[in-house]
Amino acid sequence: MEQILKVDNLVKKYNDSYAVKNVSFKVNKGEVLAIIGSSGSGKSTILRCINQPEKIDSGNITINEDSMVKEIKKEKVIYNSKDILNKMNLECGMVFQSFNLFPHLSVLQNVTEAMTQVLKMDFKEANKKALKILTDIGLKNKVEQYPCSLSGGEQQRASIARTLAIEPQIIFMDEPTSALDPELVGEVLKVVKELASQKRTMVIVTHEIQFAKEIADRIIFMSKGEIVEEGTPEEVLDNPKKKRTKEFLKRYSS
Ligand code: ADP
Repeated sequence: MEQILKVDNLVKKYNDSYAVKNVSFKVNKGEVLAIIGSSGSGKSTILRCINQPEKIDSGNITINEDSMVKEIKKEKVIYNSKDILNKMNLECGMVFQSFNLFPHLSVLQNVTEAMTQVLKMDFKEANKKALKILTDIGLKNKVEQYPCSLSGGEQQRASIARTLAIEPQIIFMDEPTSALDPELVGEVLKVVKELASQKRTMVIVTHEIQFAKEIADRIIFMSKGEIVEEGTPEEVLDNPKKKRTKEFLKRYSS
């Protein structure tokens, strides 16, 4: 199996308290990993460390052959060159809980923006590709609209379309449905399910346990910055071994 992402003994602290403590996991090509756990357990911090808005305190993150950390000197992490970090960042697509669309750009422009600005793609080609992706995601008749005139579900689908446009090797989603009204959750989960069936490599932080069970190949349960349990959905969700996992699942199924 071709490995895309490797997180190695990741440590991230805020003011001397651990947000993420010695977390290690791998993601292979075509695999869907779901990360679950109560609020404050470090799930988003892991995604932010991989996607680089946050600096890590120790450990390493590897995407394909590229390593975020060049060396550790006197217990301090020395990051690799900007070129390598930028390349790694381009391999990662991020879908946020709060959509993060540009409010002053139309849906179509939101999707073409990264293609023309970052990938330096020809404008016409980018437009064509964006239209195809938006059509596939069910937003063909919304392309000229601005984010504020869309429902939350439509905004999140537009944001997924924007992520797909840059063809990342791995897509990260941070609770993609938790900002949505309950009746809009389904349309976004359907899109994510479709991506999983296309064998896209994804890491999804979610509170939707049933959904995680349906689409994930593997589940990681986190508590207090650490991985408590990891395995297939059957192992972690149906037959949890650890007390903390059992308690968490009891809360979420009641
Ligand atoms: P989760 O995504 O599981 O809800 P987070 O990764 O957001 O958890 O947070 C993990 C811990 O790190 C929490 O205790 C949180 O308060 C803390 N934390 C997260 N971001 C910051 C920050 N920017 N500054 C200080 N503490 C933070």
